[in-house]
Amino acid sequence: MKFRLFLYWLLGRRRFFQYYTNVTPDTCSDCLALHGKIASDPSAFPERDDNCPREIISFPVWELPWYREKERRMREAAEAELRRRELFRKASELLESSPDEALRLFSEAGEIEIYLSELERLAREKSGFLQGNPGFRRKLGEVFLSAWKLKFAKPRYKVWPERMRTEREKWGKRKIQELFLAP
Ligand SMILES: [Zn+2]
Repeated sequence: MKFRLFLYWLLGRRRFFQYYTNVTPDTCSDCLALHGKIASDPSAFPERDDNCPREIISFPVWELPWYREKERRMREAAEAELRRRELFRKASELLESSPDEALRLFSEAGEIEIYLSELERLAREKSGFLQGNPGFRRKLGEVFLSAWKLKFAKPRYKVWPERMRTEREKWGKRKIQELFLAP
């Protein structure tokens, strides 16, 4: 690695560039595909005209190993989000025809991450089915509640101030109860 860094230096590459977006349920898959990527020329990254956040960070060549490690973690997060979306999408699709399979997929998606905005949308879109199947609705609520609890035990939320974390956790718990467990 040291030799390669020296080579870059000889080639006149003093700086590298890393692409950042935010990993959220609303970030499009094209932007997620760029998250964390490193290039020697910032124009290698496409101009994007959507509402996803986009930032290109410049760093000196000798910090490349550190940024490569960061890139690895960022790629993991982006790919996990894409996997989660697919699981959630499939679960929503199977909700009425294979409710047990849907529960399993929702639970698998919830191990990766869970977002209230998606639960609200699901409750709205499937309200007819859920009203007619109170037993299933309750099970679904339990799956989401345990995923919600798991969410706040993850390292990325551990860095939040304690009080903010517990408030947010309680707020979400109430919201899930309203959506899926309230009569
Ligand atoms: Zn985008």
